[in-house]
Amino acid sequence: MALVSKLPSISSSSSSVTQLRKPNSFSTHPFNTIHYVSCSSTSPFTEKHSIRRYERDNWIYKNQLDQSSYCPLPPDSNSVRDYDIALQLPELKKLLQVLREKRESGGPGNGDGGRGPGNVFLVGTGPGDPELLTVKAMRVIQSADLLLYDRLVSDDVLNLVGDDAKLLYVGKTAGYHSRTQEEIHELLLNFAEAGATVVRLKGGDPLVFGRGGEEMDFLQQQGIQVKVIPGITAASGIAAELGIPLTHRGVANSVRFLTGHSRKGGSDPLFVAANAADPDSTLVVYMGLSTLPSLVIKLIHHGLAPDTPAAAVERGTTPQQRIVLAELKGLAEKITSAQLVSPTLIIIGKVVALSPLWPYTSRERSILVEAK
Ligand code: SAH
Repeated sequence: MALVSKLPSISSSSSSVTQLRKPNSFSTHPFNTIHYVSCSSTSPFTEKHSIRRYERDNWIYKNQLDQSSYCPLPPDSNSVRDYDIALQLPELKKLLQVLREKRESGGPGNGDGGRGPGNVFLVGTGPGDPELLTVKAMRVIQSADLLLYDRLVSDDVLNLVGDDAKLLYVGKTAGYHSRTQEEIHELLLNFAEAGATVVRLKGGDPLVFGRGGEEMDFLQQQGIQVKVIPGITAASGIAAELGIPLTHRGVANSVRFLTGHSRKGGSDPLFVAANAADPDSTLVVYMGLSTLPSLVIKLIHHGLAPDTPAAAVERGTTPQQRIVLAELKGLAEKITSAQLVSPTLIIIGKVVALSPLWPYTSRERSILVEAK
């Protein structure tokens, strides 16, 4: 299907906040009946489905709920995943035990005939649309014993997981206890050592702002082989969705991926803004919502034109995708009035005006038309 036919036609006078609706081929629900609550402390993709999924996986045992060692259901449904994690632990231990026994008895399906460790796959799931998974990722996802996933992995992708596999949420939920990076390392190691095929699912590409490198490094130091399956990073998936060429002859000769967050989570990580203020380059900002106002000031201060075209896309490539298009100088304000939440990707550069959705007249578009 041609890209443009997926996009609604919008005139130059239309609103610059666009809700694009996509056919949701893998979901059993029509997209217009799914309602997500926009809240920065919940997962925009998976929160609503977690109870159903854990029930399917038998993580939750009714009799366990009655036992005093289990905490009562929290009144705040936002913390349901953390509660689920607590319930998962006994089951996780049981699974580990079964795998170890299987391994000791040299039974089938344990990687190396009972001798070697299992496999760990670091799998990129793309920005959300399950059709953007690679064939390799699909194969590995369907053959896994245990899958660890975080908040950027969409429900449609999780729905592809085989019935016999266990799914474990290890994402961060603001304000609640979540798995630390060290705990994730330990989980991966324990299950791999027990001979399981462990899949670590990561949104987008695991090696683009995904901490995939750290997990790979840790496991390799412990003698566990890690295979990385690349995913479509948010920049590529979302640029394609909007019809934005990240590079374009005569318009942008390079593209730069930037994080809006500093390592320590400080508010001023944007020391690179001076180098990033290049009119011939496209700038893609990950995790950039909270620091965008200061980034814009710095980019303009360092010479980027205030009318540089820009886009912000929330939950790109999913049925909940929302787009804000604006010139750089007005971008932060438009994002605020549209109340975009994470995950949102920001694309800044002349190439944005090449999108068929760009509602303003621009020089870049005239250049393109002239060149045809
Ligand atoms: N490894 C991921 C990036 C993880 S960092 C990748 O390659 O895409 C998390 C940030 O990625 C989010 O804060 C957001 O800026 C961006 N992102 C990832 N998926 C997104 C999506 N579907 N829509 C919008 N932004 C997304």
